[in-house]
Amino acid sequence: MLVTDHSDVVVVGAGIVGLGVADAARRRGLSVTVLDRSPAAAGATVRNFGHVCLTPQTGRAWEYGSVARERWLQLGHDAGFRVRQDGTWVVARHPDELALLSAAADQAPDGTPVHLLDADEFTARVPVARAVGGAHLPADLQVDPRRAAAALAAHLERRGVRFRWRTPALGVEEGRVVTGRGTLTAGLVVVAVNHDLDHLLPGLAEAADVQRCALDMLRVDAALPAPLPGPLLTGWSLVRYRAFADLPEAVAVRDRLHAEHPRWAAFDVNQMCTQQPDGSLLVGDTHRRGAGVDPFLSEEAHELLLDGAADLFGVPRPRVLERWQGVYASGPEEFLLARPAPGVVVATVTTGIGMTTGLGFAEHAVQSALQGEGP
Ligand SMILES: Cc1cc2nc3c(=O)[nH]c(=O)nc-3n(C[C@H](O)[C@H](O)[C@H](O)COP(=O)(O)OP(=O)(O)OC[C@H]3O[C@@H](n4cnc5c(N)ncnc54)[C@H](O)[C@@H]3O)c2cc1C
Repeated sequence: MLVTDHSDVVVVGAGIVGLGVADAARRRGLSVTVLDRSPAAAGATVRNFGHVCLTPQTGRAWEYGSVARERWLQLGHDAGFRVRQDGTWVVARHPDELALLSAAADQAPDGTPVHLLDADEFTARVPVARAVGGAHLPADLQVDPRRAAAALAAHLERRGVRFRWRTPALGVEEGRVVTGRGTLTAGLVVVAVNHDLDHLLPGLAEAADVQRCALDMLRVDAALPAPLPGPLLTGWSLVRYRAFADLPEAVAVRDRLHAEHPRWAAFDVNQMCTQQPDGSLLVGDTHRRGAGVDPFLSEEAHELLLDGAADLFGVPRPRVLERWQGVYASGPEEFLLARPAPGVVVATVTTGIGMTTGLGFAEHAVQSALQGEGP
């Protein structure tokens, strides 16, 4: 058992939000301990596409994402992991998708432009089988999620942050965290456990209507004719991300996609992919929400994703290298910042944009807690 041990800040959870909180607190001169029940980050932060998709965000997500973008660039430099600055590529395979991209281009903020491309310009850069056009979102970034999470933790440890792995938090209250290895005391406790909020603080999760959202993901060998120049989004992404989905032009895209592909709609697919440093593709994803999520993975969902990738790139059905399920917290708002007890802050990204926004949201959570502001 640990002897009781004190830090200015104890962070529960070593995903991107917890690491961001640790970084923000450390830079403000505070002593920080991060604890995680796993031997290394193993949650959503290592199971995602590594897509820092700032351009498609609006409102607070865009604001946190703008801060996060700068933090990713700085931390990539300081911690020694690659942050690709090649932007996102969005393929339009139907005129209604191009019309939606065109409307988004007219409204895009200066810092996150949407550059339209015609079919020839797009297919010259991105190895898709067919396109009526597309767009380049140059402000967006890409990281290798597995490498980034490990490098960030190692970097923070070198800068004095203490990590306690394989240490589950059993309860949090004012000034202390009770763990499976003893008690830690702190001036400020930050809970950054993503969907596991429903285990640690079930009453708060229920009151805030936080559910679990489970996603199917694949890493495949797709034998692409040329490398991807960055993350690739499709029409399915346009009807999901708010800077596109909130535009009137999105209605026609959504109605057509759902009518043409009812099974894709049933699995709530966001067809997108990113390429990894070894050339393999991360392909996804599906979405299922509930208080608990079914652990049994549907082969039909995987077949849809594989056939979709073959059709997208005009290649044979890709060979699967890895399959996994990722889970994130899902709520009525995009972020949950709560104070369940004095000196205890809960910071949860409650939709699937934590890699884009988490580092900025963490800065805000620390700043407002130190200023004594309510959530
Ligand atoms: C398949 C998938 C694809 C995604 N793609 C993208 C993307 O491309 N771009 C994007 O912006 N976002 C994406 N997201 C969302 C993003 O990954 C998440 O929003 C983000 O990683 C959440 O970070 P987190 O730190 O809150 O949670 P996590 O990374 O899940 O970390 C939580 C940590 O808390 C620990 N923990 C839980 N309970 C306890 C406890 N009681 N005691 C101690 N430790 C505990 C866990 O072990 C875990 O390490 C995706 C998510 C998924 C699942």
